Amino acid sequence: MKNISKEDYLSVIYKNSDDNKEIKANLIAEKLLISNAAVTDMLRKLSKEALIDYKPYKSIKLTESGENYAKNMVRRHRIWELFLHQVVGLPWDKVHDEAEKLEHSGSDELINRMEEMLNFPEFDPHGDPIPSKDGAIPKQRTTVSLSTLVENDSGVVIRVNDFNKSFLIYLAQIGIELNSIIEVKEKRSFDNSMLISVSQKEWNISETLAENVFVEKLKA
Ligand SMILES: [Zn+2]
Repeated sequence: MKNISKEDYLSVIYKNSDDNKEIKANLIAEKLLISNAAVTDMLRKLSKEALIDYKPYKSIKLTESGENYAKNMVRRHRIWELFLHQVVGLPWDKVHDEAEKLEHSGSDELINRMEEMLNFPEFDPHGDPIPSKDGAIPKQRTTVSLSTLVENDSGVVIRVNDFNKSFLIYLAQIGIELNSIIEVKEKRSFDNSMLISVSQKEWNISETLAENVFVEKLKA
């Protein structure tokens, strides 16, 4: 049985709350790779602690205190990630798992000191915004997924999805990192794969890869 904390639940709800998506027990179960029954138990607990609004068959919402709690956890996670990346020198595919453990330890004071040491960063190594001490979220540039670009479009990489290690390792191998400029040389309509160029090298990439890279489109 996986040991999943209440912070993990709150983080999942928080991260899926932005796009008006319905959040139900089965979505949480899917994200945390656990059974629906386990999720239902925890949701009742969180609801008793007034951290979520939970009514069966309705979308789950964080209460104000639940949101603050989750935001702080996301903040701790992303500061750890950046610290591990910038100070310790871990590659971007390794920081998530380590931060997952570390986010539960260390006082808020330690996190604040790390943030100061990193010079009050706004984004983590994958381009995700870091909530400030008082809960403000840095404004992100407008992005689209790389898969929406067409031939001759180009874009600068602002954010990548961070949930799959081999995906991140592969991106690094082909030279895709934050702020890389990607140009679409060719797009094949039958499977939406693309030939792209990144720092003067060309690569064929799948639609799945492109869907998980977010770019700010550059004007032609
Ligand atoms: Zn991250």
